[in-house]
Order: sequence, then structure tokens, then C-alpha cells
Amino acid sequence: MAKLTVSDLDVKGKKVLMRVDFNVPIKDGVIGNDNRIVAALPTIKYVIENGGKAILLSHLGRVKKEEDKPGLSMRPVAERLSNLLNKPVTFVPTTEGKQLEDAIDGLNDGDVLVMENTRYEDVKDGEYVKRESGNDPELGKYWASLGDVFVNDAFGTAHRSHASNVGIASNMAQTAAGFLMEKEITFIGGAVDNPEHPFVAILGGAKVSDKIGVIDNLLAKADKILIGGGMTYTFYAAKGMKIGNSLVESDKIDLAKEILDKAGDKLVLPVDSIVAEKFDNDVAHKTVEGDIPDGYMALDIGPKSVAEFEDVLKDAKTVVWNGPMGVFEMSNYAEGTLEIGKFLGTLKDAKTIVGGGDSTAAVQQLGVADQLSHISTGGGASLEYLEGKTLPGIAAISDK
Ligand code: AMP
Repeated sequence: MAKLTVSDLDVKGKKVLMRVDFNVPIKDGVIGNDNRIVAALPTIKYVIENGGKAILLSHLGRVKKEEDKPGLSMRPVAERLSNLLNKPVTFVPTTEGKQLEDAIDGLNDGDVLVMENTRYEDVKDGEYVKRESGNDPELGKYWASLGDVFVNDAFGTAHRSHASNVGIASNMAQTAAGFLMEKEITFIGGAVDNPEHPFVAILGGAKVSDKIGVIDNLLAKADKILIGGGMTYTFYAAKGMKIGNSLVESDKIDLAKEILDKAGDKLVLPVDSIVAEKFDNDVAHKTVEGDIPDGYMALDIGPKSVAEFEDVLKDAKTVVWNGPMGVFEMSNYAEGTLEIGKFLGTLKDAKTIVGGGDSTAAVQQLGVADQLSHISTGGGASLEYLEGKTLPGIAAISDK
């Protein structure tokens, strides 16, 4: 790819600042799920095994007031990282000053240091000053001064211009992508900029309004767009079909009409739905074709739709999927999402890309993640990437 990556760098003996995504769920100091720490290991290991000194920065949650700080300390993350790497990790309970600088000066080649949550900088003396989230120029410059090179492996924040990604990069001679970031750029960036055809997008989830930008951008690039999930019924309403009590965005019906006119047969809507009288897993449900009867709401796509979607997908060379086909959190309405996920797993000649957020949760929960080419780690970032927007965190990475 055109961007510099960590494997292009000579890190030996260097202080390598690394922006990672350690934004893990944490409650009372206990980490709920350490997937994100595990996902950062390849880049961290690469740096230390090649003789670099790894200085890790990440945000954790949102810090808006002084009282938010104790519960959002990076200390438990540093401890977990130490366990995973099976070596000591230095934790520095601050984001600037002598204690941090001395600890960095004391590092030997191959050592690892984790500094405190970058968002502690958002609150100073009780005031919400947003030095990190507002990309305070002095803060980015200061952090950059602590290292020799910068590696950004945090795709999840790439759509934001913060001091710990863009701020540092703009004060560094060289910024490289870590391996996770590189994979996101290769797969999502590759699908958007240079897809192998046939290119099929599958868009689902609750709302049309969240996906307008993605639909617009992909209409120009994809060969087919398959629509599922709750947003289907705003399109049904736009076609004058009955939708019962299904999810609908009344103020987006005109927009849905415009999209349908523009898209022609590129946009494929479900032909059948699983419907129920209540938003509840434990009520009677049935399959209906076309119109949704009065008193019912549509909660999943039906088997005929699944078969039609699979027929379109079977020849695809690139597939991007964002948003579940139904209320996958309830087992009776998870079938559409599960079947599509399983089918994507059988497409061995295609690049199959899941674009973050709920779709990532869905393929993980349904156990099909391993069979797909790429599961994005970023929700908001992957949506904006699919919208064709320039992500500031990626733009700030040096070209090769
Ligand atoms: P999104 O965050 O836009 O990708 O939406 C994901 C959410 O949409 C999930 O929580 C699903 O339960 C929900 N969803 C999917 N299909 C439907 C539907 N037919 N009716 C209501 N909610 C749905």
C-alpha cells in the first residue's frame, strides 16, 4: 500500500511512540473483554522484538470531569498487557511531566511502557478543556517530543483529529501504520478505492439516516447493494408498500424515494420478512411476502430474501457488509444475519469485509467471524471510510 507501515521502519534503539486502541470495557477496575489488547500485540511485539522501546498511548472511555478519572485509569490495561506479553510493563500514572520523561529515559531496548489514559488531558483542574479530543497543538507537540518515530495502530479513532493521533503525527518526521491499521487500509480502503468486481455491498441495521452517506458513496462503486434490517421498511414505505408497525423514519421517506430512483435495479430489497406482533423474542412470529400486515412488525428478512441475496453474492469478488439483517440479538430474528454471515464464509474467492459496529458484534456472536477476510475494529471510523471520507488519522500517516 502507499502508506508507510511499521515493517518499513528501523526501530532498533528507537523510542517508538505507539497509538494503540486499548479502549476496552472496564468496570470497577476489571477488564470485561481484552480483544483490543490482544489485537494490538502483533505490532507491539514486532517493535520490541526488533529492539525498539515501545511507549504506548491510548484513550479509555470518555473523561469529562475529574471524578471520571479513577475508573478510567490505564493501570489494569498495563497489567493485562504484561500478562499477555509475559514480561514486565512499566505503567506511568500521568500523561506529562518529569515522572513520564524520566521513565522513558530509563527504558532499555525491547522495554514496554504504558502511559495514563490520553483523555485525562481533557480535564484539567476540574475543567473540561479537551486538550486531547480537541487536538491541542501544544499537547501533540509535547507527546511527539517524547519519541523518535510514531506508529499509529488505532483505527477506531482514525476518523477523529485528536492530539494522540493527528497531533503527534504532525510533529513527527515519520508516522507509520501498525499492522491492524494496515489491514483496515488494505481491506476497507481497497474496497472503496479499487474493488475487484462484482462488488456487492450488504447494508442493514436500524436506520436509513445512519447509512445515507454509505449508500450514496457505494452506489457509484458497487454492482449491487442488498438492503436488510430495519431500514428496509423506510424503503418499503417509499414504494407505497404497507409496513405495519415496522421501524420507519418518516422524515426519510422522500430521501429513500430519491435513492430508489437513482439506484434502479442496483438496490435490492428483501422480498419477504419475519414478522411478529411485538418487539419480543417470545411471541408468535411468521414469514410474510411483500407488504407487512397491520398490527405486525418486521424483525428479520425471510428465507426467500436470503436465497435471493445469496444468488447475488455467489459470484462476488468483493463484499462489504455493514449492519445486521434483523434483530440478531433475539434468537428468533437472527436467522437472516446468521445465514448471510455463513454464506459469506463459503466465498473463498472473494474478499469479505465486515464494516464494524453491530455487524462485527453480530458475526462474532454468531461464530462466523473466522471465515471472513476482514472484520473491522472501528464502528464510526469504518462507516466514514465507507462513505468515502478522508480519515484524518490515516491521512496523517506518512506515504511510503
Ligand atoms: P445499526 O447500529 O444501525 O447497524 O443497527 C443495528 C441494530 O438494528 C441492531 O441492534 C438490530 O437489532 C437493529 N435492527 C435490525 N433489524 C431491525 C428491524 N427489522 N427492526 C428493528 N430493529 C432492527
